[in-house]
Amino acid sequence: MTCPSCGNSNIYRSHSRHLLEKTLRAVLPVHYYRCHDCDWRGMKTDLKWRKLSKYLISVLYVLLVAGLVIALIGTLLFFLVFRPG
Ligand SMILES: [Zn+2]
Repeated sequence: MTCPSCGNSNIYRSHSRHLLEKTLRAVLPVHYYRCHDCDWRGMKTDLKWRKLSKYLISVLYVLLVAGLVIALIGTLLFFLVFRPG
């Protein structure tokens, strides 16, 4: 893994500093890194593109299933409340 600022490979994982960074790190497949050569600090993903695309597809799948379940429950509630006849 190389530093996006200077291109050297002298980068190491850095601790999350505050709640926003901890939240992002928990939700996204990323870690914070620091470059010991140029002092750059930022997020990078450990995942290769193939793994990242699988992760994104699984997130989209979960959102799709959740949307379908919510739509189904909404339809059932609609017919329970407004019974025809
Ligand atoms: Zn650097």
